[in-house]
Amino acid sequence: ETAAKAAARTTDKSSPTIFDKIVKKEIPATIVYEDEKVLAFRDINPQAPVHVVLIPKDRDGLTQLSKSDPRHKDILGHLLYSVKVIADQEGLTDGYRVVINDGPNGCQSVYHLHLHILGGRQLKWPPG
Ligand code: ADP
Repeated sequence: ETAAKAAARTTDKSSPTIFDKIVKKEIPATIVYEDEKVLAFRDINPQAPVHVVLIPKDRDGLTQLSKSDPRHKDILGHLLYSVKVIADQEGLTDGYRVVINDGPNGCQSVYHLHLHILGGRQLKWPPG
């Protein structure tokens, strides 16, 4: 079992996460995009030349995609469209990948919904 998978299994999913502190600017992050609903910043442990994490500012119960319900449809659409805007801004003209890790099997470690935007190199498929 990987450390990330173990963390995903044991995390208290109801508590605020490090991403709330980034939203409140209590801890530093390199913010690349922000609007009234979403925030995007560079991943602290980048897996590609461009690795951006995109989150809803208000978690509103969205610990993970599998916990979403109909009230989240607007923010989910807003997040996905924001990926396109950020990818353009980052100059990812040759393509990129969008990843949502969900739960232990997805190796999710931070329980505040987030999308990974990965690019700037040839990515392989399938992922591990
Ligand atoms: P995993 O840790 O397995 O990638 P997640 O999908 O939950 O699982 O991803 C959380 C991501 O958040 C990781 O890529 C991690 O590097 C990133 N991260 C954690 N803390 C910070 C931080 N303070 N600033 C920027 N990125 C962070």
